[in-house]
Amino acid sequence: MRLSRYFMPILKENPKEAEIVSHRLMLRAGMVRQQSQGIYSWLPLGKRVLDKVNKIIREEQNRAGAIEILMPTLQSAELWQESGRYDDYGKEMLRIKDRQDRPMLYGPTNEEMVTDIFRSYVKSYKDLPLNLYHIQLKFRDEIRPRFGTMRSREFMMKDAYSFDLTMEAAVHSYNKMFAAYLRTFDRLGLRAIPMRADTGPIGGNHSHEFIILAETGESEVFCHKDFVDFDIPGADTDFDDVRGLQAIFDKWTSLYAATSEMHDEAAFAAVPEGERLSARGIEVGHIFYFGTKYSEPMGAKVQGPDGKEHTVHMGSYGIGPTRLVPAIIEASHDDTGIIWPASVAPFDAVVINMKAGDAACDATCDAIYAALSNAGKDVLLDDTDDRAGTKFATADLIGVPVQVIAGPRSVANGEVELKDRKTGARETMTVEAAINKLV
Ligand code: ATP
Ligand code: MG
Ligand code: MG
Ligand code: MG
Repeated sequence: MRLSRYFMPILKENPKEAEIVSHRLMLRAGMVRQQSQGIYSWLPLGKRVLDKVNKIIREEQNRAGAIEILMPTLQSAELWQESGRYDDYGKEMLRIKDRQDRPMLYGPTNEEMVTDIFRSYVKSYKDLPLNLYHIQLKFRDEIRPRFGTMRSREFMMKDAYSFDLTMEAAVHSYNKMFAAYLRTFDRLGLRAIPMRADTGPIGGNHSHEFIILAETGESEVFCHKDFVDFDIPGADTDFDDVRGLQAIFDKWTSLYAATSEMHDEAAFAAVPEGERLSARGIEVGHIFYFGTKYSEPMGAKVQGPDGKEHTVHMGSYGIGPTRLVPAIIEASHDDTGIIWPASVAPFDAVVINMKAGDAACDATCDAIYAALSNAGKDVLLDDTDDRAGTKFATADLIGVPVQVIAGPRSVANGEVELKDRKTGARETMTVEAAINKLV
């Protein structure tokens, strides 16, 4: 992508409305724009990051055996009357009427709808286990939407729903998502700690929130500090191995970790003082086992091996991609801007042409841009005629992991400079060496 032809509306001033660093940086880097309270457009740079986050989420859901579908944002109130949640959900639910005066709603979550899909098709235990997920916009009319896309009213959620014949099988499905979540957040460059959590309006009895420690987090959390160094399940994890997955779950729940709603002072006091971590955190994922809470009232049953009908056991598993983007920034930035983990960076490298219009600089930059692009890298070429200082500030602000700096003096020697955004380390090398290093 050539910056001169791109759409990346950088703000020079700090936006006054932004209270936390991620919100400020997302606005300054032109990643998102608020359209009305708590409702955002994703601009090109933001959209690239969001797509990369979703790609990782999707890969790990698929690896764990979940199957992708796409359910609509608008739902009929009838379904929610069946489960009893239409009246219970309260003001967070946006209720709409269509032209026939039929009550509709903008889905805040999809337990009812996916249960309806399930009951319409699945009739035998032989088709279980089944886990269906989608990545779709949700709407919750939050009392206090704030911090940009961290807590918005319209937001994206990856929500998966598992169906099993028995509680034991449902626990295995839960453990699959538990391990998939550990892997997902790790690949996003984050350390998320699963904590015992309250189930809230989703209901149920077995639940964990995945929390990222951050001063600006809205949750108050208490945990053992060793979680920060625990091993993440590998890419070779066998998701069909019931015991293996149970062992991962057992290990990751062996030490104290709870959100304030579930906090047990006495149990926390038993953790040696130097190993206690009481901090603030951001909820980036939440998984629930809730048994037959929806399948029972909605009649989601299958025939078991005994020939009898069994109400299925369910779980649901949410991750917030549009919250993860600011959460990653909260965890990874400095005074000059964002520092993207390579896995979600909007571009792999930015090539900075220090003197656009100079034949030698242009030729060198074009050659590097072509070589990296042909190797499948996402490259941004700053070919604008901005001042050098502006170009450096922009590159630092948008947080691309590597900057390739080509000025007339180095180019005359057949060289460019490589700058690592995270460490600030600079290294001069030949154009060829730079290309070899980056492909
Ligand atoms: P919170 O406690 O922050 O209000 P929640 O517990 O209501 O979140 P869940 O119903 O557990 O949210 O939804 C699953 C995931 O969806 C959350 O873990 C979070 O990542 C994301 N999410 C929920 N509400 C929002 C929101 N208003 N804006 C952005 N992401 C959200
Ligand atoms: Mg909420
Ligand atoms: Mg919550
Ligand atoms: Mg939650």
